[in-house]
Amino acid sequence: MSKEDVGITVSKNADFSEWYTQVVLKAKLADYAPVKGLIVLRPDGYSIWESLRSTFDKKFAKNGIRNGFLPILIPESLLGKEQKHFAGFNPEVFWVTHSGTNEIGDRLALRPTSETLAYTMYAKWIQSWRDLPLKINFWNTALRAEIKATKPFLRTSEFLWQEGHTVHTTQEEAEKEVMKILEIYKNTVEEELAIPVTTGKKSEKEKFVGAVYTTTMESIMPDGKALQMGTSHFLGQNFSKPFEVKFADKDNVEHFAWQTSWGVSWRLIGAMIMAHGDDKGLVLPPNVAPTQVVIVPIYKNEEGKEKVLSKVDEIKKQLETKEIRVHVDDRSGLSPGYKFNDWELKGVPLRIEIGPKDIEKQSIVIAKRHNREKSTLSFNEIEKIFTILQEIQKEMLEKAKEQAKENTIEISNYDEFKSKIERGGFFNAPWCGKLECEEKIKEETGADIRVIPFGSENEDLKCMYCKEQSLSKPVFARGY
Ligand SMILES: [Zn+2]
Repeated sequence: MSKEDVGITVSKNADFSEWYTQVVLKAKLADYAPVKGLIVLRPDGYSIWESLRSTFDKKFAKNGIRNGFLPILIPESLLGKEQKHFAGFNPEVFWVTHSGTNEIGDRLALRPTSETLAYTMYAKWIQSWRDLPLKINFWNTALRAEIKATKPFLRTSEFLWQEGHTVHTTQEEAEKEVMKILEIYKNTVEEELAIPVTTGKKSEKEKFVGAVYTTTMESIMPDGKALQMGTSHFLGQNFSKPFEVKFADKDNVEHFAWQTSWGVSWRLIGAMIMAHGDDKGLVLPPNVAPTQVVIVPIYKNEEGKEKVLSKVDEIKKQLETKEIRVHVDDRSGLSPGYKFNDWELKGVPLRIEIGPKDIEKQSIVIAKRHNREKSTLSFNEIEKIFTILQEIQKEMLEKAKEQAKENTIEISNYDEFKSKIERGGFFNAPWCGKLECEEKIKEETGADIRVIPFGSENEDLKCMYCKEQSLSKPVFARGY
């Protein structure tokens, strides 16, 4: 087995798309399933998802949200109850038409999203104001047929996600919830995945079908394309009316409830790969890395091996008392160089090298994955590794913020926009708020409104397209 067999063979700059796919497959995060459009998650990939899930669960719980479970099949009659919503999803829905050889009368959809199902249940469960707020999150998968080429984590016909659905007595409370969730999303993505996001609203054209409005967080990827990282929707009474989600108030008067729904998917893993990876492979932020530290023992003979391995064991235990996730690579028959490359490909944040010479010097060599810096630590400084991992986490976010800043361009002139859109980026440009301009811009440049950042409603500016008074300064970009 040569290095070329396992390493990444294209550079991130030269062929971003191919680089991405190679990293996913070769770092063993995921693989293609036998059915087109589907992927299989491998333990390292799933572990990252579990880490995110556990962080979200803690934050949701603090906010009074509990987890539930919904079945995957939704009857067509239910899915069609909110017409706009149904029309929006219809082309992507997988249908179950038979059970065995018997045709099913009311076709069953494989859940593209669960609003209709959840709210049918909610209507049953909610009677009075005492039952509210009702806040349930569901960890499951959603299925939406992808006609375009599959990209692991970014575009697949089935994806892991969470969908939260809350019900409130007042509009104000529901809208607060929408913002609270967006805030949880933002700080989790920034703190855990070290990716900066821009938050704001979607345009009318881009909002979730059936929502009054959609708030979103968007990130700019190193190839200049935007990625939607998560959305939180204010549904108003758009669903509570057709689904009769009603409550009796203190005077026993019935009202339609106010609702929200929100979700993030394993797309976040795709974003993490793109944001931090390099020509050597994956680069994992320590907070979500399945293995945070890998120790590679180096020895030439049996006597040396024993000495090194006993010290390695000691260091491993020291790190584990600090709850650091550590792995010892004692595979025989592989050179240290091979192992270094292998762990770099897998993105482990910190590597420790230790051989007979290091033991003589009472020190270890540490190599950071994100900037590939090497240094030494003496045996009595092992505890510092905990802090070093935290520093790596911070440095990765800082670097990603700088990249995002470099890729963000203020623009007011449409010709300039057209000349620059090809090389990608987030373009902050004034817009009149009219669908017509939004559509023309999309048609002529392939860029859409990714997000209208909070507070971007502005001063005296002119729409980049029609030159009329602008209403806001959205982020225009080509997206994934
Ligand atoms: Zn305009």
